[in-house]
Amino acid sequence: MTTPAFDSSDTVLHHIGGRAVQGTGGRLQAVFNPATGAQARQVALASADEVAAAVAAARAAFPAWADTPPIRRARVLNQFLQLMNRHRDTLAAIITAEHGKVFSDAQGEVARGIDIIEFACGIPQLLKGDFTDQVSTGIDNWTLRQPLGVVAGITPFNFPCMVPCWMFPVALATGNTFVLKPSERDPSAAVFMAQLLEEAGLPAGVFNVVHGDRVAVDALLEHPDVKAVSFVGSTPVAHHIHSQAARFGKRVQALGGAKNHLVVMPDADLEQAVDALIGAAYGSAGERCMAISVAVLVGDVGDRLMPRLAERVRALKVGNGMQPEVEMGPIVTREALERIEGYVALGVEEGASLVVDGRGLTVPGHEAGFFTGGSLFDHVTPDMRIYREEIFGPVLSCVRVPDFAEAVRLVNAHEFGNGVACYTRDGHVAREFARRIEVGMVGINVPIPVPMAWHGFGGWKRSLFGDMHAYGEEGVRFYTRQKSVMQRWPEATDRGAEFAMPTAR
Ligand code: NAD
Repeated sequence: MTTPAFDSSDTVLHHIGGRAVQGTGGRLQAVFNPATGAQARQVALASADEVAAAVAAARAAFPAWADTPPIRRARVLNQFLQLMNRHRDTLAAIITAEHGKVFSDAQGEVARGIDIIEFACGIPQLLKGDFTDQVSTGIDNWTLRQPLGVVAGITPFNFPCMVPCWMFPVALATGNTFVLKPSERDPSAAVFMAQLLEEAGLPAGVFNVVHGDRVAVDALLEHPDVKAVSFVGSTPVAHHIHSQAARFGKRVQALGGAKNHLVVMPDADLEQAVDALIGAAYGSAGERCMAISVAVLVGDVGDRLMPRLAERVRALKVGNGMQPEVEMGPIVTREALERIEGYVALGVEEGASLVVDGRGLTVPGHEAGFFTGGSLFDHVTPDMRIYREEIFGPVLSCVRVPDFAEAVRLVNAHEFGNGVACYTRDGHVAREFARRIEVGMVGINVPIPVPMAWHGFGGWKRSLFGDMHAYGEEGVRFYTRQKSVMQRWPEATDRGAEFAMPTAR
């Protein structure tokens, strides 16, 4: 098996109870290859009935899966890990064909997803409870963590493999069953992983995929058998998911949008800072939640850095992500392309200096592809919408500030707090930055500080609604609930009824 299951009309199907399921609702959405601009296939959009069928399949599979010893669950994940490694390039090609990112970047995304599967394979150790012998005379007390039941994941278009992998390997390893609602814009990677999970020996119904839009999401949020919801996407939708899930009594983590700053201090190595900005602002065409979209240029850095940065932005190689020399692929859809180019026009209206204008780019041989070039603004100010709002495209806004204190104040005042970076050679400045900055993930001379699998991922402020970060030990806690057990085995003569609050004796 090397490709995901589509039906004869090239429709991406739901995966429910171990079977590819044709939608009954009849609603379909086109899936494009963004590099050619052509419709590649279509995806069935689930009705509430299909969501209910997926939840029912997951609920039916839950008791046996939850009872399976953690080491045996880990063995299934180990098999899955091997299959993911064997098929990693197939998966990366599926991602490039529907998302547009360059193939090497898609390979990187798959590798970071695989990291989480490796982490989840260690679940027997992570689920070890704790135990106190003799909390009181003749009494022991221990805590264990048990799975929640059916849990749901709702994921964005920009990492169709890695972001689902932030969720389901840990959820499955801890004994839950799962319903994934991937992005309808690039749905095939999820189906491919569902097929690999079953090939790895995962029982039918433990992992299900329903495709769809708001209808499917709302059905998951309202379904009484869904016990927890993990969401990653834009902030307005994250906020909706968080409040609705809480209203229906579910555990919820909802990761939202971002506006990540990279601060360049006057003592920074400028070559390194330019490389960092080019990769982090224009890699994946800026469609990363950890992309750098604001450069904060401190002191005289602006005058020294801008000419080098502009030259590199103009030289970006934009094209079909399957061509090895290409550095930046297309935008995911035509609507997204128009939104991004609309922001470039807005920046000009707002009075920022457009140093490089990427709008209207045509790639020879791919004239209908959804391409825009890299755009670069200088003299952006905090009152401008291009500074305040998430553009989610290859547009970098440079803000000039006089000193370090102003740089910290600027970052901390922003409504988003996902990622941030500081380029400096001064250890004291770096330490102060990491301690004072109000952002969830911080890079010191690291432009995209996505934490490794065992550390957990999450932003602050309006970049995350909920208490727990994704994956790592936070993920284990999110997908389990703690139970405390006290036991005693009294001898024949017992203490009799006690009316005072029991205390240790
Ligand atoms: P999106 O919010 O449009 O969609 C995310 C998911 O929500 C999709 O599955 C989609 O079908 C569903 N959805 C969309 N509109 C909905 C609605 N009105 N009601 C219910 N469900 C809805 O996001 P996107 O465009 O797919 O992804 C890009 C966004 O995701 C960016 O804002 C980016 O910053 C964010 N993101 C954040 C992180 C993070 O870790 N914080 C990671 C990746 C992406």
